[in-house]
Order: sequence, then C-alpha cells, then structure tokens
Amino acid sequence: MSTSGTVESLDFIRTIVTEDVRTNKHQGRVATRFPPEPNGYLHIGHAKSICLNFGVALEFSGTCNLRFDDTNPTKEDVEYVDAIQEDVRWLGFDWDDRLYYASDYFGRLYDYAVELIKAGKAYVDSLSADEIREYRGTLTEPGRNSPYRDRSVEENLDLFARMKAGEFEDGAHVLRARIDMASPNINLRDPTLYRIRRAHHHRTGDAWVIYPMYDFAHTISDAIEGITHSLCTLEFEDHRPLYEWFLDNLTLPSRPRQIEFARLNLTYTLMSKRRLLRLVEDGHVRGWDDPRMPTIAGFRRRGFTPAAIRDFCERVGVAKKESIIDVALLEHCAREDLNKTSPRVMAVLKPLRVVIDNYPEGQVEETEAINNPEDASAGTRMVPFSRVIYIEQEDFREDPPKKFFRLAPGREVRLRYGYIIKCNSVVKDPATGEVTELRCTYDPTTRSGHEAPQDRKRVQATIHWVSAAHALDAEVRVYDRLFLVERPGEDGREWTEDMNPRSLEILPACKVEPSLASAMPEQRVQFERLGYFAVDRDTQPGRLVFNRTVTLRDQWAKIEKSSG
Ligand code: ATP
Ligand code: MG
Repeated sequence: MSTSGTVESLDFIRTIVTEDVRTNKHQGRVATRFPPEPNGYLHIGHAKSICLNFGVALEFSGTCNLRFDDTNPTKEDVEYVDAIQEDVRWLGFDWDDRLYYASDYFGRLYDYAVELIKAGKAYVDSLSADEIREYRGTLTEPGRNSPYRDRSVEENLDLFARMKAGEFEDGAHVLRARIDMASPNINLRDPTLYRIRRAHHHRTGDAWVIYPMYDFAHTISDAIEGITHSLCTLEFEDHRPLYEWFLDNLTLPSRPRQIEFARLNLTYTLMSKRRLLRLVEDGHVRGWDDPRMPTIAGFRRRGFTPAAIRDFCERVGVAKKESIIDVALLEHCAREDLNKTSPRVMAVLKPLRVVIDNYPEGQVEETEAINNPEDASAGTRMVPFSRVIYIEQEDFREDPPKKFFRLAPGREVRLRYGYIIKCNSVVKDPATGEVTELRCTYDPTTRSGHEAPQDRKRVQATIHWVSAAHALDAEVRVYDRLFLVERPGEDGREWTEDMNPRSLEILPACKVEPSLASAMPEQRVQFERLGYFAVDRDTQPGRLVFNRTVTLRDQWAKIEKSSG
C-alpha cells in the first residue's frame, strides 16, 4: 500500500490534511469518502479517486466511507452497486462497516429542505423547465427572479408537502434555494433542490416521488457522516460556493471542506460512464468487464494486478491542473509488477509443426525450466520434449531477411531449455504453397545446461516451443487499443469514429505447455517471449482461454529514455 513520502513530496491535498491535523481542526480527525453514483462500472479514473480517498485515510489513521450517491433513480441499478463494491475491495481497500447510501438520508434531506423553507431560503417554483432555463440568464447576463420567488413560507411548506405526497405531475413544481439570480456564479442562481419524478428507486422503491439534486444531497451527506475532507474533481470547483452556502445556512452536525483535484485523463481512452455504457449497449465490446474497457473490472479480467493499478495512481499523483497521462505508463506499471510475480511458461500462439527426424519416435525427455528468474522461491518445473513440437510461425522464414536470426532452411536455433535444432527442409501445402511443417534434426550434444564445454555451440537465437503430444489447446485473445487516436472525439469528430476496428484478435488454435492443465481464471503467467497473459473466466475443462494483458515491449521505458 502507498505510504506518504517526505514532507517535501506531499501533494497539495496531503499538505492541507497534514496542516489540519497539526492545528487540531476537526479534533485531529480525518474522514474521507468515495461517493460513486451507481450508474455504471468504475473506471480507472475512479481508481485514482479511490486510491486518494482511502489512501489519505490510511496514512492519517482516519476513515474512508463508501457512499453510493444514489439520488437519480432512473439511471441506477443494483448490478452497479454490487460491481462497485467488488471493484473497490479488489483494489485492496476496505470501508469496514461504513457503507452508506445517500438514499438512506432521504428523510433527513427532506427535513433540511423544510428548514430552508422555514428560514425563507427556499421556495417552490412553478415555472416550467424551459422557463427556468430562460430565467436563469447566461454567463454574461444575470438571471431574473421567478414570479413565484416571493411565495410565503406557509404556501411553500404546503406545496412542498404536497409535492412529496404525490399530488402533482412530474415537472409541475421544483423546490429551489433562494440565493441570488444575479450571481456571477450560475450555480448560485437559485439552484434546484428537489424535483418531482415518479420513478422506482433501487432501494427506496416507490416511497418517494420527489428526489433531491446532487449538490444538496452531497453536501448534507458529507456533513451527516462527519466527513472532514470532501475530495472531488475539478468540475465541482464552481459548485464549492453552493456547498458552502448549504453549510452556512443549515444546522448541520459537522463542517466538511471540499477540495478539488484534476481528474485522470488517459491517452487512447474514454472514461465517461455515459460513453462506456454506449460501448456496452451498442455491442462495441462484450460487456463492462471486456478486457478492452478502461473499467476496473476490465483491467482485472485482462490480467492487471491491483498493485499495478495502485502504483499507477501513485505515480500519476494528485494535482490541481488538468493533464493527460500516457496510457503507456499504466502498461509499464502492469509489466513491472507482473515481471516480479508471474510464472513463465511456454505457449505457441500461431503454431508451426516441427518434426525432429533424428529424435527417437516415442521418446520423451523432461527438461527443467525456471518458473521465475526474478523470484528464486518460485522454483522450477519439468517440461516434456519429444519428436514433434510446435514453434511460432513467426520464428521461421523460408527466405530470411537481413538480421533475421531465427530458424530458416539450413539454419540452427536453440530451443529454450532444450537442444539446438537445424532446419533441413520445408513441407508445403501443395494447393496454397503455405509452409505446413519443418523437417529438422537435433544435435544430441547440445542439451541446454548439459553440454560439455568443448561442445558448447553458439547460435544466434533461442526460441520457445511446446511438445505436440503434450501441449494443451487454448484460445488466446489479443487486445489492441479500443481507440486509434490519443484523444478520441477530438476536433468535433464523433468519438465512435475513432474506434479501432481491430481491437480484438482471437487466436483459436494456440498450444500451451501441459503445466497449465489446471489453470484457474485470473491466474497470470508470462508466455515466454510473448507477453503477460491471464486465464479468462470463459475457460472450461479442456478449453483454456487466455487474455493478453500486455506485451513484453515497454514503450514507456523508451519514452522516458528519449525525454531524459
Ligand atoms: P464519469 O464522468 O466518468 O461518469 P462521474 O464523476 O460521474 O464519472 P461518479 O460516480 O460521480 O462518476 O464519481 C465518483 C467519484 O469519482 C467522484 O468523486 C468523482 O469526482 C471521481 N472521479 C470520476 N472520474 C474521475 C477521474 N477521471 N479521475 C479522478 N476522479 C474521478
Ligand atoms: Mg457523476
């Protein structure tokens, strides 16, 4: 888990919290919350907010609540409520017994609205939605007072009670705060607090026909829960005066402070839940947890580790200025963690059959292979070798170009953990001319780790392989970016136009070594020379399915080198 660094390296939020603890503000207490709206799965941007909120709580011996901001009944769903909890837990964070729902406060929120009405600080407005928009004014022009703004307290109390009782049609009235229609901040031009909406709520059912607006519900929820530092993204900066207006004008049990930070943006990635929902609904991906999705569930299925995502969030840091992070950094974090933790195995994605003519038919040798060169405690395993093996089609060229050092007619390569073989001839499909088989011979004196020093031969390349008789069949799903451009939808293009039509390649006829026979979903491995892969949950007995997490090539290291 992340730990705070030295005082100099603290980000601006941790600096504020440190100071508040030092001056004993909130009696030295630190309480944060992560407040997702359950209208979609969490994405990597939420991971940043989760790592920040739970991270600050951990570092300052405070608490972090998980609170569902479920004030908009039409877009919310229990599927999302469950998925969000699972994702936060998977990331490694724990809210103990502090799971809250804004909808649990509906009764108290109503009472706070009544308090505002009684103080003459809220009124029932009967303008239509269009009229309210028209009266609101613009960024350059002040708004105008609604003709209903000066209703008496009694009339407002009566109308609001009847709104709650279901006497009016949706949209007939709204409750508004009475602040200032001429304020330069549009959020203060008598913002709506409640609207009538006959919609079934996933928790409160049909008990309510009026629902509170986000700003009102959020501020009061923070205060009810005794949140000390309410961390949110920059788009809420202009809402802070309203947040503070509620704190100033209601008798609330505590006074939280809202602090805004820049949201995470990633190249080649869209993060808005609205758009992610469209990707799912329009069938561009196979679901919210499709391994191409920037959702936490998607990264998980793809093989990312929670540690890699936390590391990424820590490296990205927290700032007040918007920026866009190179997605290569995220992949780099995945690679770094997987390199330390993933067992190596051999797998052939596009198999080419190789017959070793001078190897005895029916003979099998077990060759010892290292599970993880980064971790001696991971030990070794035995890999079977026999007369017929598969190698990668790419590791053979009939007509090798310059600098191609792998197998070609008349050439030798070393088999990883095995012998040196030589390609003597090529078998082709007479109809297509495609190479279907190589006929090779092996040199029995060259078995890896067993050669006598005088016999040690130098070859230019070592390639991976699997024994045909022992290999398991597998499907491998190879992913590319979902979008072709760094900023999808930039320059007024429709963002769907920037989608990569080849973001998924399915390799149905792969061969993997037999040690994977009992591999379980989410198990992560490195296929030697190819990349990191994770067992997909579509795996069934006799039918392994793998997702490619990342290749071994590290673009981020290159980027850093060229800029450093
Ligand atoms: P989106 O705009 O992607 O639909 P949202 O802000 O509507 O996201 P919420 O469920 O309201 O989603 O967000 C929960 C918390 O996560 C909020 O505090 C929000 O500020 C934060 N959050 C959302 N997106 C990001 C992001 N890209 N980077 C950092 N924090 C984010
Ligand atoms: Mg939101």
